[in-house]
Amino acid sequence: MPVVTRFAPSPTGFLHIGGARTALYNWLFAHHHQRFGDGGRFLLRIEDTDRARSSEAAVTAILDGLQWLGLDWDGDAISQFERASSHQSAAHQLVNSGEAYYCYCSADELTVMREKARSEGLKRMYDGRWRDRDPSEAPDGVKPVVRLRAPQTGVTTIKDLVQGEVKVANEELDDMVLLRADGTPTYMLAVVVDDHDMGVTHVIRGDDHLTNAFRQCQLYQALGWSLPEYAHIPLIHGPDGAKMSKRHGALGVDSYRDEGFMPDALRNYLLRLGWSHGDAEIISTEQAIEWFDLTSVGRSAARFDFAKLTNLNGHYIRMADDQTLTNLVIGLLQKKYDGRLAEGTSDRLKKGMKGLKERAKTIVELFESAEFYAKTRPLEMDEKAQGILDSDTRKHLSQLQEDLVALTNWQPDAIETTVKAFAESAQLKLGKVAQPLRAAITGTTVSPSIFDVMAVLGREEALGRIEDAITQV
Ligand code: GLU
Repeated sequence: MPVVTRFAPSPTGFLHIGGARTALYNWLFAHHHQRFGDGGRFLLRIEDTDRARSSEAAVTAILDGLQWLGLDWDGDAISQFERASSHQSAAHQLVNSGEAYYCYCSADELTVMREKARSEGLKRMYDGRWRDRDPSEAPDGVKPVVRLRAPQTGVTTIKDLVQGEVKVANEELDDMVLLRADGTPTYMLAVVVDDHDMGVTHVIRGDDHLTNAFRQCQLYQALGWSLPEYAHIPLIHGPDGAKMSKRHGALGVDSYRDEGFMPDALRNYLLRLGWSHGDAEIISTEQAIEWFDLTSVGRSAARFDFAKLTNLNGHYIRMADDQTLTNLVIGLLQKKYDGRLAEGTSDRLKKGMKGLKERAKTIVELFESAEFYAKTRPLEMDEKAQGILDSDTRKHLSQLQEDLVALTNWQPDAIETTVKAFAESAQLKLGKVAQPLRAAITGTTVSPSIFDVMAVLGREEALGRIEDAITQV
């Protein structure tokens, strides 16, 4: 049977890291079955029924986040709010079949009932007083809610693909409200009707929804629909074991993008956060589609490790092709310098990328380390570079400049040979020459091989920067 999964975020904020992982698992499971099974679809439903807390901005942030992560969905995103009439008809169908009933309790009555239940230590808050009462007894002017006539004995069992068999005694569950007095559907009803109408076969979501699954299961049974498979995945915790919060990096996916994380790296990291395949750490998307299954999702909460994510990101940066990285860095440079970049910056970056990407752990680091390629002469020097360029080192640079001017073959090896020969003849350690040279060429004290950098910049620019350093006071 073809598999249908869905991601069902509530648009009350950004796409956070836990939501992104849920989306990824659903996406992978569908793609796995599309590739290796009877077919698979991954659907997106925006659970926007809470009008006060939902916003268009949050919907946009979620869609952008998913797109940036490469988690494309099949068909159009579905709005739960717009499906209210389907939810209402399902509730009326239940009333007609006797599986649901009208309850006319007032708010005050319910408060008294809840207090009584609490004082008696009962889990069920509603005492079922309208289950079998004739609606002709309804008080005047009270608009009723619709409640499910839930089973009062026996157990409800979920065979969860991650949690195993989980049970609850039916006597612990209330006759839940399906339609409010104003006729609007409750969340619990909406989820079940939508999942059914969308043909969802596998509900993969955070285990904070496990208790909802019992109620949803009762609703499926009342409607005579077959249950989907459930897979409730453990939540993500911070490194200290506490529930993931902002201080642990529980930020929107967009902040990871802004901090310079690559979508492939974040995807790989989120995949491993709660799922494993032997010892494999670096897993391409193709490989993930092939390997992904729900049986290998761990049962205990995963711990978010920012350092691990950062290292993995460094790996993906080293693996990325130079043009992609150049485009990303150019984007950041354009922003910082308001579009005023030195001529040929893009070309320089592409040529210099091999050296730059060896060190960077994030795109932001890559951009910072590449700035000297985009700057125009005379270069601004950072404090350390300024400190290195004193009268002695400037004198050496001006002597070295003569040798470099005479060099016709402007290649890294030839430049290196020239600089080394100069250091030897001046009886200086190579560092004593290379560091001032680096300061002059890059305006900083850290860079890839300075000989490579000079070759990338080209003869004229490199000699010009040396000249600036010698003459600047
Ligand atoms: N809208 C719910 C949430 O954002 C998800 C509900 C579900 O997956 O069934 O947590």
